[in-house]
Amino acid sequence: MLKKFSALLITSLFWASSTSAAEPQPEFSAAAIRAHVAFLADDLLEGRETGSRGYDIAARYIAAQFAQAGLTPAGLNGDWYIPVTFQVHTIADGASLTITGPAGSKNWPNGGDVMIASNPLQPKQDVEADTVFVGYGIDEPRVGINNYKNLDVNGKIVIALAGYPKGMESEIGAHLGNTGTKAEVAAKHGATGVVLINTLQSDATRSWARRLEALHDKRMTWMTPQGEPYVTAPQIAGGITLNTPATEMLFTKAPKSFTQIRQLADAKGGNPQGFPLASKIRVQRSSNRDQLQSPEIVAMIPGSDPVLKDEYVVLMGHADHLGISAERTGDKIFNGALDNAAGVATLLEVAQAFAKSPRKPRRSILFFASTGEEKGLLGADFFAHHPSVPIGKIVGLVDLDMPLLLYDFTDVTAFGSDHSTMGKIVRQAAEKLQVALSPDPMPEEGVFTRSDHYMFVKQGVPAVFLTTGRANGGDAAWKDYLANHYHQPSDDMSLKIDWQAGAKFAHLNYLIARTMADSDERPLWIEGDFFGDVFAPGQPRAKK
Ligand SMILES: [Zn+2]
Repeated sequence: MLKKFSALLITSLFWASSTSAAEPQPEFSAAAIRAHVAFLADDLLEGRETGSRGYDIAARYIAAQFAQAGLTPAGLNGDWYIPVTFQVHTIADGASLTITGPAGSKNWPNGGDVMIASNPLQPKQDVEADTVFVGYGIDEPRVGINNYKNLDVNGKIVIALAGYPKGMESEIGAHLGNTGTKAEVAAKHGATGVVLINTLQSDATRSWARRLEALHDKRMTWMTPQGEPYVTAPQIAGGITLNTPATEMLFTKAPKSFTQIRQLADAKGGNPQGFPLASKIRVQRSSNRDQLQSPEIVAMIPGSDPVLKDEYVVLMGHADHLGISAERTGDKIFNGALDNAAGVATLLEVAQAFAKSPRKPRRSILFFASTGEEKGLLGADFFAHHPSVPIGKIVGLVDLDMPLLLYDFTDVTAFGSDHSTMGKIVRQAAEKLQVALSPDPMPEEGVFTRSDHYMFVKQGVPAVFLTTGRANGGDAAWKDYLANHYHQPSDDMSLKIDWQAGAKFAHLNYLIARTMADSDERPLWIEGDFFGDVFAPGQPRAKK
């Protein structure tokens, strides 16, 4: 009896060890994460700005790492890269805006109390039109708001408050309050222009003086394969914002003064009704235009299941950052060690783990390093419109952007996890590493719409944006980083980076991608979810 039991024990031990010999646990190396970040954040890469030499070196490095790990190229024509052409545009000197109405006529030069951005489509523009105030400029039946109701804006310039009504769910608000969404809605109603005006809240969030700092920024637009700059609402192209003095003149003899409108908008749920204004606006501007190229880098681990291999799980991170400052003295290089060399390092480490694993994923996995994120999520938007695999076959996406590897994180936040079954997948993967899934710690920031994954959400793909949480020292680390290092030259290798946390973050993302790739069921939007209903109307749903 005893002997037999021992034999059984020995057999079962042997069985266990032979299984783990056949399938070794993937390893995630702190040293490898450090090596990737050290290379990508080196001064020699000059801040990896989209279109720069430094970015191109980063792209070569990423492709070389994918090749060395044994991945399959998944860019254009069997290569690692998808070249993207961008139009670069800046506003020329001398732009102005003229308001003509009951208070007379006044010309406002650009950079004073008006801010006129470049127009990517028209090198020279001179238009005049009547104006209509449209409240927040939202038309979305799912939240019961139509700011255009009973207003004729056809051929007119609409004047819209920045942001969204106070108290609206923040991710929905971030989408509806986005200037791109407002332009699309205005175009749908026949408007020829959108001029934004500030609420008390938007003025408090960012002062007019700070807004003006961006006046001469290079703006970028990706070019379609047909060679046209891509703009969602062409007739609305080119942003314009007014400061309070110009807005007050525009509201002369209006049914409500600008001060009253701002007070209404400042109340919880405040949603001021629109009305026609008595003044016209004339916009005169010239825009300088140029082009540059910058590649995306895409690699694949082919799936093993004869059917599921035609579906794709995407893991992505942006390879670009801000480049070199033209204005600063001293350290001018934006190395972007955490934003986002750390995300790319995670991507590379997860890729090598899948490549080494003898158990191939059932679905195919794409590893995608994007360009143009810091220029407005442009590379992700390009890929979401022109993917190297059919967009409907991308079943779920994880975006790795700015994991704060400055402490041993014990929780993560997955922005967007409430919208699809990916929330459950992330939670289960995190539990295996004793990591908790925490809710959005700063809902007012609308983070869900501020990184690359959002461009895939807009094409109907369930996605999460995963970052390290606020527990175990995270709160202090985040506060310090956002105040002192975010988008600063000091986001570099002098930060006290916890490389072991990087290895743990890579392990977590491996588990998430593994579950998405191997589950019988693809990730599904949750029944009744706003983003699923808006962007993926035909797709199957998971019960709440
Ligand atoms: Zn950034």
